Amino acid sequence: MNDLESRVRAVQQRITAAAARAKRDPDSITLVAICKTWPADAVLEAYSCGLRQFGENRVEEARDKIPEVNRRLEPASQGEPPGIVWHLVGHLQGRKAKEAVGLFDLIHSIDSVALARRVDERAAAIGRTIPCLLEINVSGETSKYGFSGALDPGLQQSVKEIVTLEHIDVQGLMTVAPIVTKPDDARPFFRALAELRDELRGRFPGCGWRHLSMGMTDDFEAAIAEGATLVRIGRAIFGERN
Ligand SMILES: *Cc1c(COP(=O)(O)O)cnc(C)c1O
Repeated sequence: MNDLESRVRAVQQRITAAAARAKRDPDSITLVAICKTWPADAVLEAYSCGLRQFGENRVEEARDKIPEVNRRLEPASQGEPPGIVWHLVGHLQGRKAKEAVGLFDLIHSIDSVALARRVDERAAAIGRTIPCLLEINVSGETSKYGFSGALDPGLQQSVKEIVTLEHIDVQGLMTVAPIVTKPDDARPFFRALAELRDELRGRFPGCGWRHLSMGMTDDFEAAIAEGATLVRIGRAIFGERN
């Protein structure tokens, strides 16, 4: 096994072990490999290890990398689509909504009604419905994007507006936990996201709300303990970024 493959297997084993500790089905947790800053070569290598879910945090970076990966996989997949699911996990500016809708399969970072409207408009224009998650700033840190984590009238009104948009399929919530010294210290933030999801599901039963996108290299096991369905892991797979 090469280095990348052994790191992928190690992460997969840690996910399975964390699921077992939480008495959860490991298949209910999807590993999203965050390949930001890494070239197409790294994505292709991870693909050859069996990974199919990849995440980027910037449209500018994905704009060349995604088509390149698809192009280079084409011969191997003999004209079939390569089966990659591309996730946008970083902040999205409204003016890049059109491009994002053309590139990604799931947008994790809907953080305002205005952005949701832009994405909806752009998805409508190309005749698709795009799966999205609402980003929640559970910790309230000013450095972070996202809706406030309190189920106050403001959030309820925002969600009410977003769920009526026809070309957005709201599938759940996403958060980035604060940096903590012990991973378990992040659990209250993950738990808060799960609780908010349950409350929103009660109020807006028309959406699926099945996804909780939470947990990164330093805290994904804590996130799995609190119900994560999508873990976004970069460094533990690809190594430290420059
Ligand atoms: C970079 C990034 C990740 C992955 O972080 P690692 O610590 O490398 O696992 C996850 N989510 C978001 C939003 C990111 O920007």
